[in-house]
Formats: sequence, C-alpha cells, structure tokens
Amino acid sequence: MSASILMKRMTLLVLSALATPLLAAEPSLLLTHVTVIDGTGTAAKPNMTIAIEGQRIAAIYADGSQEAPKGARVEDLSGRYVIPGLIDAHVHLTGAEPDIAHYQPHLQALLRGGVTGVRDMAGDDRLVAYLAGEANSDALASPDIFFVALMAGPTFFAEDERAKDASEGEPLGFAPWMQAISSTTDIPLAVAEAKGTGATALKLYANLPASLVTKITAEAHRQGLRVWTHATIFPATPGDAVAAGVDTISHSPYLVWAAAPSVPDDYRGRALGDFEHIQPDAPQIIALFKAMKQHGTILDATLLPFEEEAQHHSKSVGAGIMPWSYAVTKLAHQQGVLIDVGTDSSGLSADAHGVDLKALPLEHTEMALLVEHCGFTPIEAIQAATQVSAAAMGQAEQRGTITAGKRADLVVLTADPTRDIHNTGKIAFVVKNGHIYKKDGA
Ligand SMILES: [Zn+2]
Repeated sequence: MSASILMKRMTLLVLSALATPLLAAEPSLLLTHVTVIDGTGTAAKPNMTIAIEGQRIAAIYADGSQEAPKGARVEDLSGRYVIPGLIDAHVHLTGAEPDIAHYQPHLQALLRGGVTGVRDMAGDDRLVAYLAGEANSDALASPDIFFVALMAGPTFFAEDERAKDASEGEPLGFAPWMQAISSTTDIPLAVAEAKGTGATALKLYANLPASLVTKITAEAHRQGLRVWTHATIFPATPGDAVAAGVDTISHSPYLVWAAAPSVPDDYRGRALGDFEHIQPDAPQIIALFKAMKQHGTILDATLLPFEEEAQHHSKSVGAGIMPWSYAVTKLAHQQGVLIDVGTDSSGLSADAHGVDLKALPLEHTEMALLVEHCGFTPIEAIQAATQVSAAAMGQAEQRGTITAGKRADLVVLTADPTRDIHNTGKIAFVVKNGHIYKKDGA
C-alpha cells in the first residue's frame, strides 16, 4: 500500500470517527397528548408525553411539564392510546419453506399488527438465526426475534418428522439446534454447541428423565442460557421441570399431568390428559403453582391453538380440554403465577391457501381469551402480552414496558383497550426501536 493511499484511508477513518456522534444524534420524537398504558399493570395515565431518543424511550411526563427539545418531531396523539409493543411468546416462524424472501411479508404483517418481538420456540436455526440478525438490526421490517436450540431424548428424533425437516443435511440428533441427549452425552459441550447457534435459550421438548432435565438446566444457566420447556417432557413431569428451575413452561392443558397418577414414558401421549376426572384445583396443581410462583417460572398458556384444535379436530385432544384449560389458567393467575401470551403458531392465521397477511396477528385473539375466559382485566392481559412476555423472552431489562431507558417499542391505538380488549387491534401505527411503521408502508 502506498503512503498516499494510506494517508487517504487514515483521513477517512478520522473523518468518520468525527462524523459518528453527529449522525447518532437523531432529532427526538415526541408523542404528545396520549393516554399511556405502560404494561406494568398500573392504571392508564391520560395527557402524557413520551420522548424517544434514537432507539430508546428517554422520558415519560405529563403534557407540557418539560420543554420540547429543539428540532424534535412532534406527533400529537390526542384521543389516542399507547401500549408497549406486543410480544408473541410462542411462535414457530420457519416451516418447510427455505426461501428467506418468503418470510419478509409475513414478518412485516406481524410488525404492522403490533407485534414488536417474538420468541421462536423451535425450527431450523440456520434460517431463524439469519432472520433474527436482519430483524434485530432493523434491516428488515419485522418484530425482533429471539429463539431456542432444542434438546430431546434420542427416541424423539426417530418419532418426529419436524426434527428431520428442521435439521435437514445434518446427522439426525446432532445438529447444534436439534440435539439428542442421553445419559452419556457430554452436557457442558452440548449446551455450548446450542449456545453457538445464537439462541437465547434451550428448549427441552420430549423424552427426557427428570435427572437429565435437572442437569441440563443447571448447565444452561451456568453458561448464561435460559431454559424454556414443554410441560410434557415425559418421563419428566411438569413438577420435575419447575423443580429443576426452568424459566418458562408451555401449554396450560398439559398441566393436567401434574395431577395424573402416572405420566407416559413418551411425549406422544401428552394431548389426551384426563380432563374429565382431574380437577383444575387438584392439590398437586395448587402445589405446582406455589412452586412456580416461588421459582418465578412463567406459564406460557397458549390457549388459542388448543381452542382451534378442540373445535376442528376434537378427537386429537382430550374431551373437556378447553373448559379445563381456561379454569386452570384462571387459577394460576389468581395464585400469582406469571402468564405470558403466546400463540404456538406462525403468529398469523393460516388456511389451506396459506397465511392471511391482511388479518391481525393471533396474539390479539390470545389476549382476548385471557379476558373472556380466564378472569384477566384488559390491563392484566396487556401486561401479560408485554411485560411478562418480554421476561419470558429473556428481555425484561430491555423491553415490555413503557419505561425510560427501555427500547422504544410501542403500539398507538385509536380506541381504548381498557374498555374493550379487542381495541388492541385498532392500530394507528407501531414504533419499533424508535422507528415508526405505518399500515400503508410509510
Ligand atoms: Zn410450539
């Protein structure tokens, strides 16, 4: 390299170093005259201003009580309501479709529908990690994405086609995001490989004994990974998972197995719990809720997929599943167990013709089920979909409430969601990481 080229490069470096702070100081965005429902469960506050600097919420204050910064962009939101960005705490974004372009309109529809974060609970991490990189750097109009690496007992991999699809091209049970674990596995190494995928957590899915669930959970936490599990990791029971210290546990209906006289050895027996004879308030279930509250284990209720299954394929789920699931979720809520909002879907409704990009994300329906069947107030359902779901996703410090210092992820509504939870679907615009996304694509 010649001296003059070197000089030019150094000059450019110096200039860009000088320019960086100027570029970073974007004019602030002020949302004024808005009613704030902040996601913490406290009552709505009218006539507020939210100041946003870059990606973060800088301050929240009563209208006019602070001077507007010079050059600030002001959005007068008189008559409007703002809630934190919604987080779908249980999605499966990737299916058999390997084309990245296929996911763009889907992710965009989720974001414009108010979903600013998703927790992907298993898929092909080669694809999910790529999408997360694009989404979380705002290169793609998308909710931010956090995801898992899955672990299960070796027999699961022979039984479940989804594991084959999600790790195609890799030896079955040895892809870092789809690992078979047995008593001879080097657990620290397996956890390190899972962490190398960029996952936030392990998902413990199926066919693991309590002893392995305990060992894996301790090692994952030691390496800074979270543990998000099914209630039916059989032969490990829901109580075994909670006692092991897992961070979240999925699917309200499967809590029925906490009070069953025995559990199957294989996860495939999970759906047909004895909802007719086991009471939602059986002593074993109350004891489970006490343990969950004590450990801070979040219940990932996912009611909607079971409601749909019960309506359309009633034989594949146990008789009486929905009244039981609603009752047990209501009881968990009364007992002080934290409950998130997840849809166990792609986040959007789909039929034989594909995904409906025009419809609202399913998260809004799941929130409404909590209000209509599980004794939540609208404010509590919003808290579940924001503060609690952010905690479930491992993002409690960064997201989930309208708090100074947190990410500016917001949904501005044209109608009061505390009067009718369905009003969370009446969206004026969405803010993610400080950027405004409007329905018309602006
Ligand atoms: Zn799932």
